[in-house]
Amino acid sequence: MSPRPAPALPEWPQFDDTERQALERALNQGQWWRMGGKEVDSFEREFAEYHGAPHALAVTNGTHALELALQAMGVGPGTEVIVPAFTFISSSQAAQRLGAVTVPVDVDPDTYCIDVAAAAAAITPRTRVIMPVHMAGLMADMDGLEKLVADSGIQILQDAAHAHGARWQGKRVGELGSVAAFSFQNGKLMTAGEGGAVLFPDEEMYEEAFLRHSCGRPRTDRRYHHQVAGSNMRMNEFSAAVLRAQMTRLDDQIALREKSWRSLSALLAQIPGVRPQGDDPRADRNPHYMAMFRLPGWTEERRNLLVDRLVAAGVPAFAAFRAIYRTAAFWETGAPAESINAVAKRCPNTEAISQDCVWLHHRTLLASGQDLNDVAAIVAESVAAG
Ligand SMILES: *Cc1c(COP(=O)(O)O)cnc(C)c1O
Repeated sequence: MSPRPAPALPEWPQFDDTERQALERALNQGQWWRMGGKEVDSFEREFAEYHGAPHALAVTNGTHALELALQAMGVGPGTEVIVPAFTFISSSQAAQRLGAVTVPVDVDPDTYCIDVAAAAAAITPRTRVIMPVHMAGLMADMDGLEKLVADSGIQILQDAAHAHGARWQGKRVGELGSVAAFSFQNGKLMTAGEGGAVLFPDEEMYEEAFLRHSCGRPRTDRRYHHQVAGSNMRMNEFSAAVLRAQMTRLDDQIALREKSWRSLSALLAQIPGVRPQGDDPRADRNPHYMAMFRLPGWTEERRNLLVDRLVAAGVPAFAAFRAIYRTAAFWETGAPAESINAVAKRCPNTEAISQDCVWLHHRTLLASGQDLNDVAAIVAESVAAG
């Protein structure tokens, strides 16, 4: 549809000799699991330090990171976890796999992050954890949430799958005093294809999580004395080696994406009908996992056709997450005793955003100036055509 050539955007994932040498280093150790090699241990130290956390535990993927964190926080049958209704399904599935009930609540129409008042309204005596998702790298209102749970016994688990390197009022993710879970899946801001990690503010919870992620078996056990119930969620040495290399690029990429988003969001805001994701000045470092914008009032069908037009013009565009309560998966186990319509009624912003929101892959924000202008021009033309 567009007469323009497709914008020249960098590929993702990115790698060079740093990853090649890291893989060879892991290979040459002769031991390819974490109990024999040094890569996972080193990566955990580096990742914890980068985020200002006392402890990091590397795991198989981000979904397992959330599940393990929730288990260490005491989530199980008879408990409830409050999650934003607008998120990737892992946020809810992690709690449901543990036999807990997931209670979806609405998000802010501008930031797409959990609405603190909606979370407050959903608290019951069974609430154990509230899980903010830092949507596209923009930190949720951590001050509001911390105030909400103060002295209540309710804990916060940050779903930081989009938020590698993010900050809240100068504080890094690991300095906020709550547990945080990350993903290193292929599309995420640093990746080994699959992978995850949990940051822990205290040693006791970290030690429990370590046991549970390794079949309940202490590090030095040789007699099969499994101390607690668990599973195998251990990261392998190759993934950790690649992630150590990926981390060396993160800061420069974040700086570039922050700069690009300032230009692109200004250009998008000028297009009639387009509203870019809002900002919160307290979220003072945003790694920008996605470039998101809404078309308020658009139907899901119209939005989906726009995404098709953008893709045809060479822009890596996607439809935003479906409301988690509008998936079959959500209702199989661990759903609240409410109808879909009742949940939808108290989540009007999620209803709207999940239909009218589009996101562009973060590699768009690693592009140069003219290519960003071209992306904005293609969005303007595609919106005008739809
Ligand atoms: C990617 C993602 C996850 C899950 O991570 P995986 O590594 O793919 O299991 C969890 N939460 C959110 C918000 C995500 O985007």
